[in-house]
Amino acid sequence: MGLYRDQGIVLRTWRLGESDRIVNLMTERHGKVRAVVKGVRKTKSRFGARLEPLVHVSLLFYEGRELDIVTQAEVVEFFRPVREDLSRLAKASALLEATDQLAQERHANGRLFVMLLGGLRALSAHDSALLVPAFFLKLLSTEGFHPLLDECAGCGDRYGLTSFDLAQGGVLCVACSGRGDSVSLSPAALDLIRRVLGGDLVGALGMPAGPTVAEVERLATRAMEHHLERRLRSLPVAGALAGE
Ligand SMILES: [Zn+2]
Repeated sequence: MGLYRDQGIVLRTWRLGESDRIVNLMTERHGKVRAVVKGVRKTKSRFGARLEPLVHVSLLFYEGRELDIVTQAEVVEFFRPVREDLSRLAKASALLEATDQLAQERHANGRLFVMLLGGLRALSAHDSALLVPAFFLKLLSTEGFHPLLDECAGCGDRYGLTSFDLAQGGVLCVACSGRGDSVSLSPAALDLIRRVLGGDLVGALGMPAGPTVAEVERLATRAMEHHLERRLRSLPVAGALAGE
């Protein structure tokens, strides 16, 4: 039992009893942490709005037997431009939900924290149609599910790649398409996915909304849902951020 410091981003919250709250945080050094905030729902609470979803906070925790207790919280960033724009807020809630689903409790994953923070900062600076799909693709890649994009996952052929197989996590050629859980993939969408995962993320994020971005978005969402084995709630509607 003891105290520890970390920084984190609030992913979601629940009520606990009359005045307390449970928060899920993606922390820098302790993975996903589920902690209790005491008295947060009282009007005089010293925590105020600091422990609501989509706040980056610096924290002091007291280690509990089951759940840790937040004893101090200071805001690092509120991501105001995201909160004030419904379109960006919906995207942020998709990022938070995917992170919440993918992160393991108390399993340090500094890269995931940095990715989430980077995604939210990018969204604060600029609304990008490709932000959520790019985040999903990078997230899957970082977690060890880097898709095979240069050759057919079925036969190794490098030409005529026309679909993406969710189960195998790679592209398929014409001859191999239609098997398993595959979705069609246009050359432009394949090119965009290669840019997202191949080092031109910033350039790719500048792509305006359109059919290619929409196609990549559908594919990235299906790939993420396939991996999580569940549907994402916060897509495509906003509103999942209404914390207690
Ligand atoms: Zn093939």
